[in-house]
Parts: sequence; structure tokens; C-alpha cells
Amino acid sequence: MHGMMMTQPLSIIEILRYAAGAHPGGEIVSVRTEGDIHRETYAEAFGRAAQLAHGLEGLGVGEGDRVATLAWNGYRHFELYYGVSGMGAVCHTINPRLSAEQMLYIIRHADDRVLCFDVTFTPLIEGLAEHLPEDLVLVAMTDRAHMPDSKLELLCYEELLEGQPDTYDWPELDEEAAAALCYTSGTTGNPKGALYSHRSTVLHAFSVAVALSKSLKEGGRVLPVVPLFHVNAWGLPYAAPLTGASLIMPGPKLDGPSLFELMDGEKVTSAWGVPTVWLGLRAEIDARGRNPEGFGHVVVGGSAAPRSMIEGFEKSGVDVCHAWGMTEMSPVGTHGLLSEPMRELPFDAQIDLKSKQGRRLFGVELKIVDEGGQPLPHDGRAAGELFVRGNGVISGYFNNAEASAAAFDDEGWFGTGDVASIDDKGFLVIQDRTKDLIKSGGEWISSIDLENIVIAHPKVASCAVIAVPHPKWDERPLLVVVPEGGEKPTLPEVHEMLLEHVARWQLPDDMVFVEELPLTATGKVSKLTLRDRFGDHALPDVG
Ligand code: AMP
Repeated sequence: MHGMMMTQPLSIIEILRYAAGAHPGGEIVSVRTEGDIHRETYAEAFGRAAQLAHGLEGLGVGEGDRVATLAWNGYRHFELYYGVSGMGAVCHTINPRLSAEQMLYIIRHADDRVLCFDVTFTPLIEGLAEHLPEDLVLVAMTDRAHMPDSKLELLCYEELLEGQPDTYDWPELDEEAAAALCYTSGTTGNPKGALYSHRSTVLHAFSVAVALSKSLKEGGRVLPVVPLFHVNAWGLPYAAPLTGASLIMPGPKLDGPSLFELMDGEKVTSAWGVPTVWLGLRAEIDARGRNPEGFGHVVVGGSAAPRSMIEGFEKSGVDVCHAWGMTEMSPVGTHGLLSEPMRELPFDAQIDLKSKQGRRLFGVELKIVDEGGQPLPHDGRAAGELFVRGNGVISGYFNNAEASAAAFDDEGWFGTGDVASIDDKGFLVIQDRTKDLIKSGGEWISSIDLENIVIAHPKVASCAVIAVPHPKWDERPLLVVVPEGGEKPTLPEVHEMLLEHVARWQLPDDMVFVEELPLTATGKVSKLTLRDRFGDHALPDVG
């Protein structure tokens, strides 16, 4: 027997329509590439999304067409998220940190019709120009006065909107219709596309809003440092308007001093981003001896948040939420906010919990399996490959049968490529990527565990642990360190620190120094590059 309730298809534009009416005070504050700070309300953004949809329609964009963006976090990018999906087209966010070759690949693979870009990327577009599809329409996201001086044929974003009606007859779409597209920058092979639907996006936004209600609420002022050009800025462009929280968009400048200034001036209550960004902000906080005014909550994810970073924030009164997820999951899978009873635990016990990757969001199921694919218990000890299932998880890669076939187990769960344990309270601990684990004499060593400890050493600015082939043990850990200041740590010093937490056989056999760690396009340490560089490093004979 069916329930007797109305059915209204879930639709992205309805989030903004709701925010415009129910949260008129919510605003989007943006550091513009033009150099100033711009403000608009959700109601104004809704009107401009309508103008954009008219403008794109005029360019011939129709349902299902891909409209690409190459842009920082700002209000125009936000308008594209809604205007494009709202009219039934697909908003394809491109990560500007990808290589030119990868960018060209995905523009062709996605079959983009229009590419909207921030003017700071003009040289990048000019570099790609001769290889771009001839009929690709290029739109510079600025006004006439700031149009770049370029030989390319460029349309002006503000002119596209100018004079258009600020209402649009938004079509009622199938809720399963494609709404947005984001490519993962895999370490091998070509990038693969995650094609989100209206339904998956709205449900994910609800789950994020509920789980992160501490920062996502009316009056909240949230800073997404996590980019709109990758993983939908962890769903914030959807979850924030849903709750009435304002968005403070940082534009291109993401260094510690710039972020501090913006946060202080705009009274940011909650900031979201990857650990590397928070290293810069923490240094600025330490230099000034205070937090930005009003700052009380940070969400960190994308790679493992070091315990020392979590401790630093918490000691200065900033509540840390350690989250985990991936492009293929819309992207948030777990969140690390503690329950009230957990907040009564001693400080160290709270930091122990916050160092884990947290509990699942509603709508995300987690399972860990052994090498034979058998489920492992959630006892905090058993570790295996992590599989996920849920409304926000991809069911295949866009136009890529080969990658799709390899991504799921027999029961249809998606294989994350992460190795994890889950404890009896539901807290996930990511041990490593399967390919980054170090297999020594048949036992596994977690590179993340070692890095987390070594990063707290005062002479270490950042570090990574990689596997180096070994004739006897198969693989052994090598520690790669960027020293802090002039003084380098010694290996015995590092070993002494590690021995407080790990077994002697897990200690890195050797240490090498580099000026900086190579990063992937998504800001994670590129272990692949490090393995290429140090793969034949001669380890000392440690038996
Ligand atoms: P991406 O699709 O670029 O977001 O990358 C997803 C991958 O980043 C995951 O599969 C993890 O390996 C890693 N990752 C994301 N968040 C965390 C976290 N909090 N701790 C450890 N690894 C993480």
C-alpha cells in the first residue's frame, strides 16, 4: 500500500528559492578577483541565477548540456551552481590545478558547451586555446570594465546577465536528472567523472546540514576554503542556504594572513578546509596571539588532520570537526562532532576521538572487508578496505564503463580504496590509501599513523612516509621531511618520539629532507611523485 502524500521531485533550485524567501538575511560575501569585497543576499543570488539561465538559454544551452566552470570561491560561481542546474543543464566544475593535458581531456570527455572562468585564469585558457573544441563558448566572469585584454573571443558574464528578467520559469525536472559533474584526479590514468543528480545533491545537503548543524544555522557565517571547483566545496553551496547560514567566499588568496584578515573582518564563525590551509592559518593565529573574532569552529578533511593541529585549535577554544569523504560520495561521508557526553571526557580522550575521522552521515553506509571480501567486525581493531553505499554515492563513472566495472563489489558497494577500522561507537579511522600502506614482512604499517606523530616534532614543518622496496622485508618505510626553520631533526630523535606510540619494527629505516612536499591537484601530498623520486633510495641495513 502506498502512502497518500504529494511527491515533489527534489530539485537544487528549490534550495535557493527557499533561502531567498525564508532566510532573507543570509548573504554571500565574496573577495572578488576585481580586488574588492562584494555582498549579495540569497534573494539577489536567486534573481541573478534566473538572469544567468536566460543568458545561457540565449547561447543555446539546453537540458543536459554541460556548462563548465574554472573559478575560485565567489558569488558568480555560486550563481552558476544554481542557474545551470536549475535550468536542467549540468554544472561541470574544473579544478584549475590539474595539468593542461588533464583539463583538455575532461573538457572533451564532458563535451562542455560553455566554459565560464575567473579572469585570473585567462593565461591558462590562452595556453589551452588552440586545443580547445572550436565551438566552446568562453565567458569571462567579470564586468565589461575588467574584461581581460586577450586575443580570444570572450563573452562577458555581467553582459550575459544584463537586462535579463530576474525570474525564470524553472522547469520541473526528473529528480534523478544530472545536475553537476566533477572529475576525480586519480593518481593513475585519466580523471573519472562523478555525475551528481538533483536528488543525490539535495539529500546530501540535508545530511550535511543535520550533521554539521553546529556551524550551519541562521546567523552562522561559514568560510568555505574548500574549493567550489572540487567536490562541491563539501556540499556547502547547497547546505548553507538550506539552513540560512551565510557564505564568506575567499576568492584566490588562501594564505594564512589573508584568511585571518577576512575571517576577522567578516566575523566568520566556522571555516572548512584541508589540513594544509589550516597550517597557514594556525601560524598566523600564533603570530598574532589570538583567534579571528567570532571564530569557534573548524571543519577539516580531505586528508588526515594531524593530532597536533586538532590539539592546537581546541586549546585556543576552536571546536574541530574532522571529516572524511571523497568525490564519489558527493563528497562528505563522516563527521567528527562529539556528542554532549563525549564532550565531558578528559581533554586527551576528546582529542583521541577527534583524531578519528568520525561517524557516518545519515544516508551513508560503511563496511570494511578482508582481502577475500568478507565483512570485518566494527571493533576498532580489525582493518580492511572500506566500502560505502548510499544516496550520495556514485553508481558508476560518467561515460567510463571500464572504471565503473572495477569500482564496485558483487553487492554493489563502492570500493573507496581506503583502508580503515570502525570502532563500536561507529567512529571511522582511516589508516591509509590501500596503495600507500607499507607492507613489511607480511605486516602492514600505516603511513598516516607515522606522519601524524612526526608532524608534532618542533623541527618538522611537514612530512610524508612512503614505502621503499626492500630485499628482505618486501617494503620498508622512508620518512620524507620538510624541516622547520634552519635546524633538521635527527633520525634517533624522531625514532624516540615515534617509539612512544608505535612498535620498533614500524620505525622508518631512514629519513630524507626536501624543501617542500609535492602536492596533487586536490592539495594532498603526492605519494606517487615521492615514490618515483625516492623509490630506489638505498636504505641503511637495519636487519
Ligand atoms: P577526493 O576525492 O579528492 O576528495 O579524495 C578522497 C580521498 O581523500 C579519500 O578516499 C581519502 O583517501 C582521502 N581523505 C579524505 N578525507 C580524509 C581524512 N579526513 N583523513 C584521511 N584521508 C582522507
